[in-house]
Amino acid sequence: MTQIYDRVALIGLGLIASSMFWSMKRGGLAGHVTGYARSAETRETARRIGLCDTVTDSVQDAVKDADLVVLAVPVGVMGQIAAEIAPHLKPGATVTDVGSVKAQVISDVAPHIPDGVHFVPAHPLAGTEHSGPESGFATLFDNRWCLVVPPEGSDPEAVETLSRFWHGLGSNVDRMDAEHHDLVLAVTSHCPHLIAYTMVGVADDLRRVTDSEVIKFSAAGFRDFTRIAASDPTMWRDVFLTNKDATLEILGRFTEELFALQRAIRQGDGVLLHDYFTRTRAIRRGIIEAGQDTAAPNFGRSG
Ligand code: NAP
Repeated sequence: MTQIYDRVALIGLGLIASSMFWSMKRGGLAGHVTGYARSAETRETARRIGLCDTVTDSVQDAVKDADLVVLAVPVGVMGQIAAEIAPHLKPGATVTDVGSVKAQVISDVAPHIPDGVHFVPAHPLAGTEHSGPESGFATLFDNRWCLVVPPEGSDPEAVETLSRFWHGLGSNVDRMDAEHHDLVLAVTSHCPHLIAYTMVGVADDLRRVTDSEVIKFSAAGFRDFTRIAASDPTMWRDVFLTNKDATLEILGRFTEELFALQRAIRQGDGVLLHDYFTRTRAIRRGIIEAGQDTAAPNFGRSG
């Protein structure tokens, strides 16, 4: 048990914030945790399940004594929340966020942070397709990466303390600059989500033709797409609206490769297809060797 912050405030009580709370309790990382969510319904649920030591009915009350304030809301509203809490922040406090996009969040939030308060953005690379206060669990961040993205001139001690905090939550911690983060995440997360959304949308169109065959014969490949495409619509809308340049860049490259594969299929170019799939198979092996997924067939599922 190593306490890192005396008082922590969680703003937004969804998957990420609730997982942080259970993990903080597991590790004894915080003395007292307050929580605030926009809707009375979420606050009620939080009180019922013991999520946070205190749930407040105003965002100002949640942050006023906090040493660490975590913004765990969709990226499109980070700036608005920062403006609301700014006058109530304790001098010397650290504000962080867990948003999936960094450059836009930094430009939205940083101007509101008062002198004497530190702003250290971060992004845990962990999640599920579930959302809301009841979806969190203490082990979500275990052995996953958390990228800390300090803007230039950040206080080194505040950055170090937040890094220790994420380490205490179970993560491996690394640092990155915001633009690089957004490009890497466009490749590893944002574009794959868009492709899954598209594939499920196409299958849904087809379903009208083939009745329920798409569901009935839903095999592993398509089922995995449907899991990703079940992710929270608000969160993902905001990701694409705020990481526009990087996702468009990667989608451009994706489309070019897709056309190349399409041409290979049309021309019966088996060599090209085989070489391509051999290269991609090695990437999967690398992910397993890095301990970021299971080698079990069908991700360890029985059916
Ligand atoms: P979530 O489960 O959907 O929870 C979002 C929370 O934000 C809810 O408490 C919601 O309040 C609140 N909220 C939504 N819109 C709001 C608004 N306009 N004003 C104030 N509060 C608002 O989301 P999450 O998955 O925890 O994601 C939170 C953040 O973490 C996002 O920025 C996301 O990009 C990032 N992230 C997500 C994942 C993932 O896989 N899910 C992974 C890493 C990072 P109500 O319940 O009252 O509506």
